[in-house]
Amino acid sequence: MAEREFLLYDTMSRQLKPLRTLEPGHLRFYSCGPTVYSYAHIGNFRTFLTGDLVCRVARALGWRVSYVTNITDVGHLTQDDVADASGDDKMEKALQSKEGEAFANVWELADHYANAFKDDWRKLNLQEPMLWPKATQHMREQILAIEKLIEKGHAYVTPSAVYFRISSFPDHGKLSGNIDKDQLQVAVRNVVVDESKENPSDFALWKRDDKHLMQWFSPWGWGFPGWHIECSVMAMAYLGETLDLHAGGEDLVFPHHESEIAQSECLTGKTFSNHWIHTRFLQVDGEKMSKSLGNWYTVRDLVVDKEINPLALRYALISVPYGKPLNFTMQTLKDATSTVERYAECQRLVALSKSKGSSQGDADNFKQELDRLYDETLEALCNDLNTSVALAKAYEGTKVILRESDSLSLQQGEAAGQWLERINDLLGIVHSDYGSLEASDFSVAPQESAATELMAARTEAKKAKDFARADAIRGQIEALGFEVRDTPEGPILKKLGSAL
Ligand SMILES: [Zn+2]
Repeated sequence: MAEREFLLYDTMSRQLKPLRTLEPGHLRFYSCGPTVYSYAHIGNFRTFLTGDLVCRVARALGWRVSYVTNITDVGHLTQDDVADASGDDKMEKALQSKEGEAFANVWELADHYANAFKDDWRKLNLQEPMLWPKATQHMREQILAIEKLIEKGHAYVTPSAVYFRISSFPDHGKLSGNIDKDQLQVAVRNVVVDESKENPSDFALWKRDDKHLMQWFSPWGWGFPGWHIECSVMAMAYLGETLDLHAGGEDLVFPHHESEIAQSECLTGKTFSNHWIHTRFLQVDGEKMSKSLGNWYTVRDLVVDKEINPLALRYALISVPYGKPLNFTMQTLKDATSTVERYAECQRLVALSKSKGSSQGDADNFKQELDRLYDETLEALCNDLNTSVALAKAYEGTKVILRESDSLSLQQGEAAGQWLERINDLLGIVHSDYGSLEASDFSVAPQESAATELMAARTEAKKAKDFARADAIRGQIEALGFEVRDTPEGPILKKLGSAL
């Protein structure tokens, strides 16, 4: 049988194309994470769920997945989407708000929302990425990258900032189609505050600001990095100079991803990512989510305050393929709730068959039917993550199981149990991968497994004599609370501070 292809619509080439990995069977995938100045809303999570489904499908195809999603905790300004490096810092502004009064400083605020984000992530049953790198933990790499861009003539220094020189990268605009330089200038002209900028559309790599609440010392004085540079350096530090896949919400195509491409490709001379996917917006009741309309929902608004089953929320958010706008309504959520209850009923029948099921009867046809439906579910997901077809196919499987009701034989029960597990691995809608643990119980195991993966990446970097990368990875391992000790038998992982 020919190997199944995983087709995804590529924003760059504007066509559906098979996802390929540079290293056979190993997907290296980066997705832009949240800016942690408040609780993430369900629209943010629609995007992260796209990344989660990509990882689940890749694993079902037998690939190894190295998935990195960052946490932006510095440098993202309120006007960055429309005008480069202007407006207030999102983190500082949050600290000055009513909610900000609960925090002693901006670091504490960032920590709080980063942890809340991870709790929501687990509640919605997204699998852990290999790593959640933070911008503030990669200052050295960002400064080195900016120095290199200046050296190569792709960036310049003004009294107030360091800017990327767009005219030095003719490919700028290839992702978004924003290639009309005059148009680009119009979009930002009104808000250019730095008169010494060579070109209004150049974007900031570093902002000098010795009043900023989060600041670092750099060759250009005290200040902080621009929003885009963190993703370039963190993606390349952990996944290599060319990624197989890069993802984000549709709002990130321009300027964020366009800027990531410019920086990265000027640094390495190589293609930054071979494939790009973007998730469309979510609307609520046919309108853009907004706090003033009262249709703004965070995960905790629904799961904690309204006691919605988190798996039902997950189901509703993936019910429409990521490439189409999703209109989220309370009815969608109600329907999703009754569907995930069907899966719970299937699980109950499987459990019952273990104690009461007869060993009589032929389970072959039953199993074949379920296998076929699993295959069709996977096939739909491999067709640009067509979740509406995939969920419908899986739903047919629940009919097959429920049709037998509590007369499920021992063998049928076994087949049904395996099918439910495989469907859960693919779609994450049958039961939580995190069991019934409280969020606070999650902290150790995933960190240890991430540290182990990183240790392997560090060994590879050392073999390739890429010592800067090996060092950066060591720092990340330490941030997870572990250290690597090189022994004659090879590197081993220890808890930081452990005497043994
Ligand atoms: Zn990013």
